[in-house]
Amino acid sequence: MKLIMLGAPGAGKGTQGAILSEKLAIPTISTGNILRAAVKNGTPVGLQAKSFMDAGKLVPDEVIIGIVAERLAQEDCRDGYILDGVPRTIAQAEALEQNGIVFDAVVSIEISDEEIEERMEGRRFCHSCGATYHVKNAPSKVEGVCDKCGGALELRDDDKPATVKHRLEVYHAETEPLKDFYEQRGILRPVDNQPTIEATTKAVLNALNI
Ligand code: AMP
Repeated sequence: MKLIMLGAPGAGKGTQGAILSEKLAIPTISTGNILRAAVKNGTPVGLQAKSFMDAGKLVPDEVIIGIVAERLAQEDCRDGYILDGVPRTIAQAEALEQNGIVFDAVVSIEISDEEIEERMEGRRFCHSCGATYHVKNAPSKVEGVCDKCGGALELRDDDKPATVKHRLEVYHAETEPLKDFYEQRGILRPVDNQPTIEATTKAVLNALNI
């Protein structure tokens, strides 16, 4: 099964992707997490990406296409995968197609900008392992500490309100056109965001007929 999670920043792509990943026993590939790790480790890709990320801008397509090609070539992707946060532009989607990659479904989580802005303020991110939490909707057991690895939980720089506004603008301009792109290919599965994570998961599974 090859899936794409589409949706605005903070729509719940990572959360739902992780649940699907466990259920289907296939990895989730998050370009955001790969890039944050690269920034943290000071790799050449990280150095290239950092200023774009801090400003809430998209990292150039060539960088992303390189990262994804490398990751999808790894052994654990053989039986399928879930892409989270990629493709984010038509050029990235075309590059995947040109590499002969055919997706089974594209789950598009639909949520209003207002709800996103409210939600992002409470989002927390583990600096060590990349796990995400929410102070109200999905809190860690101990405040500020990652359940999975004990790392420190922080508000991402790009989750700060002014940057979130800009990221939403980028989403509408650059990423939302992907809905038409995949609709034309007959694989778009829109899912309305629900009041709880569990209810959204149910809606996602329904949309995928699993
Ligand atoms: P995310 O964690 O998916 O919200 O990504 C955080 C940031 O990483 C984005 O705001 C972009 O700067 C960058 N990024 C992640 N994935 C992509 C992508 N597919 N194309 C361009 N930039 C990306």
